[in-house]
Amino acid sequence: MGSISLKNVSKVFGEHKVIPSLSLEIEDGEFVVFVGPSGCGKSTLLRLIAGLEDVSGGEIRIDGRDATELPPAKRGLSMVFQSYALYPHMSVRGNIAFPLKMVGEKKEVIDRKVKEAADVLNLTDYLDRKPRMLSGGQRQRVAIGRAIVRDPTAFLFDEPLSNLDAALRVNMRLEISELHQELDTTMIYVTHDQIEAMTMADKIVVLNRGNIEQVGSPLDLYRQPENLFVAGFIGSPK
Ligand code: ADP
Ligand code: MG
Repeated sequence: MGSISLKNVSKVFGEHKVIPSLSLEIEDGEFVVFVGPSGCGKSTLLRLIAGLEDVSGGEIRIDGRDATELPPAKRGLSMVFQSYALYPHMSVRGNIAFPLKMVGEKKEVIDRKVKEAADVLNLTDYLDRKPRMLSGGQRQRVAIGRAIVRDPTAFLFDEPLSNLDAALRVNMRLEISELHQELDTTMIYVTHDQIEAMTMADKIVVLNRGNIEQVGSPLDLYRQPENLFVAGFIGSPK
């Protein structure tokens, strides 16, 4: 569970071809990073996968099933945004439980899943606090908790750490990598930060103007950048 396949996916906004035609295979359990300069289409691509935008052309398959027309709630994916979008009036517990309450899950199930998520994310002691009583890193963990309780087949992260200060970013990078190992679930992680890409990814997808410049492991990209754009972006010799 957790393979995602894009075939000739395109996205046009008005006259603007943001994604001309893109194909990509993501395997079950991979940690894939989409990296590229601001405006290159990273968020758009993630939103197409999530179903928050409709494709203009092409096909998206999730676990082998055609998901191109499926609404977001039916795709089995959880998205974590840069702005945590927590509910300020709800406790940490309430925020994490929210997606389960929305689908009418039973109280026992909600309590168990919230507890499990809090354990994984070191939030057990904070469950009764309101978001304003938390640090930035803790808030981002709550947002991840809310994604975890849905048992997604894949997590989609859109620059989740860019609001955090540098030291905290390094910490959270490690935490998300550990979470990936623990959950063994596919993760797609969008960033414009080369260091995040190089340290976190199994596979990096370098994007430029909606096109893939190169796909490879961090080492592949460093040792054998296919062109100057990749070399420049990754900071490797070429
Ligand atoms: P990134 O996340 O890599 O910074 P985006 O995917 O947000 O890039 O944006 C890619 C391009 O698509 C940008 O030129 C942006 O202005 C344009 N774009 C994104 N969303 C919309 C939209 N809803 N309507 C029109 N243009 C959009
Ligand atoms: Mg973006």
